[in-house]
Amino acid sequence: MSNFYQAEVLSVHHWTDRLFSFTTTRESSFRYQSGQFAMIGLDVDGKPLMRAYSMVSPHYEEQLEFLSIKVPDGPLTSRLQNIKVGDSILVGRKASGTLLSQNLLPGKRLYLLGTGTGLAPFMSIIRDPDIYEKFEQVILMHGCRQVSELAYQQRIMDELPKDDFLGELIGTQLIYYPTVTREPFENQGRIPDLLTSDSFYEKIGAPPMSMQDDRFMLCGSPAMLKDTVQVLETRGLTEGNMSHPGHYVIERAFVDK
Ligand code: FAD
Repeated sequence: MSNFYQAEVLSVHHWTDRLFSFTTTRESSFRYQSGQFAMIGLDVDGKPLMRAYSMVSPHYEEQLEFLSIKVPDGPLTSRLQNIKVGDSILVGRKASGTLLSQNLLPGKRLYLLGTGTGLAPFMSIIRDPDIYEKFEQVILMHGCRQVSELAYQQRIMDELPKDDFLGELIGTQLIYYPTVTREPFENQGRIPDLLTSDSFYEKIGAPPMSMQDDRFMLCGSPAMLKDTVQVLETRGLTEGNMSHPGHYVIERAFVDK
């Protein structure tokens, strides 16, 4: 059996000239946990050209959804950005990743910190009812340069609170904090700076960072990860993994080459 299967593109949405999302069919044997990633790609000259992508869709959804960057000369995304409904993409059969609640020590509040396409795994996690059983509050922070890059804002703010299945949990336990760095917006500033600012905690109505109660999942650019980890480690928080749960876990949103 091949390591990949063909999935059919069901919808495509272009958010900006650098960002798009799409949904595909899902093979019933493809299992994953909310927050994980898989290899997806295209057949190019008879060979699979694959890249890691986080699933935006929660683990129980019938369709798969992905949020993608468009890198102008990127081997995959220069092509992938042209996909249309009815086209095929390749999806790897194996999912993996560290953004799992079992890698975290028990806590009261879960901070999901994403920049750019690093929002993708958190779109999956905020729609997983289990997360609201493990944490009293889930705080989703999404950092972007421009307001137009704040993908899924409407879904998070308007649609999910009205969802028959998740609406009540999301309405009472999820706090969404989009923030922009390069143009005026109601919330501004970089995630690592916000985490050390009293006014941020006042704004979301949560106490300042606490090693006892707060847990963190990070998915972003190399600079965001480095600076945020420094903030967390300075306060004594430790990284978790499959064998040793900790106060925070990290996934790279991409690798700088
Ligand atoms: P590449 O040759 O892969 O990348 C070229 C350059 O573009 C990189 O060096 C980097 O500087 C920049 N770049 C690549 N990806 C991004 C990005 N997402 N945001 C900003 N700059 C970027 N990408 C997604 O679009 N969505 C995802 O959900 C996603 N999940 C990932 C999960 C993991 C664990 C990892 C390691 C990467 C993930 N990526 C994701 C990045 C993805 O694997 C590819 O790098 C991306 O699709 C570009 O592919 P490419 O072949 O066009 O260019």
